[in-house]
Amino acid sequence: MKEAKHLQLEERVRRILADPAHRENPLTEVLGEVWTTLENHLERLERITLLSDSFQAMARERERGLSERFDRQLRRINRIVRISDRYQKMLQELNAHLKEASQRDMLTGIRNRRAVMHEIQQELEFANRQRAPFVLAMIDVDRFKQINDVYGHTVGDEALVRIAHTLCSDLRQSDVCGRWGGEEFMLLLANTSLVNAYPILERKLEAIRHLDVGVHSTRPEHMSVSIGVAAYELGEAITATLGRADAALYAAKRRGRDRIAPTLDEARAGRLPDLPQPSQRVPAP
Ligand code: GH3
Ligand code: MG
Ligand code: MG
Repeated sequence: MKEAKHLQLEERVRRILADPAHRENPLTEVLGEVWTTLENHLERLERITLLSDSFQAMARERERGLSERFDRQLRRINRIVRISDRYQKMLQELNAHLKEASQRDMLTGIRNRRAVMHEIQQELEFANRQRAPFVLAMIDVDRFKQINDVYGHTVGDEALVRIAHTLCSDLRQSDVCGRWGGEEFMLLLANTSLVNAYPILERKLEAIRHLDVGVHSTRPEHMSVSIGVAAYELGEAITATLGRADAALYAAKRRGRDRIAPTLDEARAGRLPDLPQPSQRVPAP
């Protein structure tokens, strides 16, 4: 677009060039050539300006496009990070769930043997460090086979659940209770001496005696358990303590079931039931 000033000058130049009075003036021809050259230069300048403008516009467009693409990528990355965080949280929860499930007994929901064994190991280390006593009580349901035989396996399962919950309730936070296998349970009484374990275990015997598990029978079916108890001796391997508890449990069975072995008097006197010979390990009448 030509400016007004330029148009005025153009008009004046045209008028001079067209005026017959200046035709013979040698400067008129030079003026004509200068004017044409100027017009050509202006035209080129305008084209260059136009080109530069369009280049600038293209660069701006490109920049805007790049920034939009950058924003889009950023949003996408943010979304992926959020999804990955969520998955990680789900995996952590699943892991915690699996860990919990691997430590629980499927039927009763109490600790399984692996979890109990782990706790016993922990307690053993603590006991040796702090010289703190603990007691293991191996508990076996008396004549449980009969329950299955008379009422069936489903009632047997329900009975085991009730027994498990009776044995594992009303304990201190530091005590450990779990299913050792089949109809056997294990109780760890933390920071407890052998003599002090008796009132707790007597209470368990009594609670089980009052548990009616004949859920489908008109006749209440009472149950009992036998308990073999052993105190951990500082420095010994846990297999030694477990061996004594096992031997004591068989002594309780031999002595008529529904009892604790050794007796409180035997425990006070530091006497342990004799280890049964394999041939002696038959159910008492
Ligand atoms: P004792 O007084 O000598 O311990 O006699 P018992 O009948 O309890 O001992 P025995 O070892 O002869 O039988 C244990 C029974 O426990 C046999 C087995 O079928 C049953 N049992 C073990 N685990 C389960 C279970 O998960 N569910 C049911 N229903 N029964 C089980
Ligand atoms: Mg058994
Ligand atoms: Mg049994």
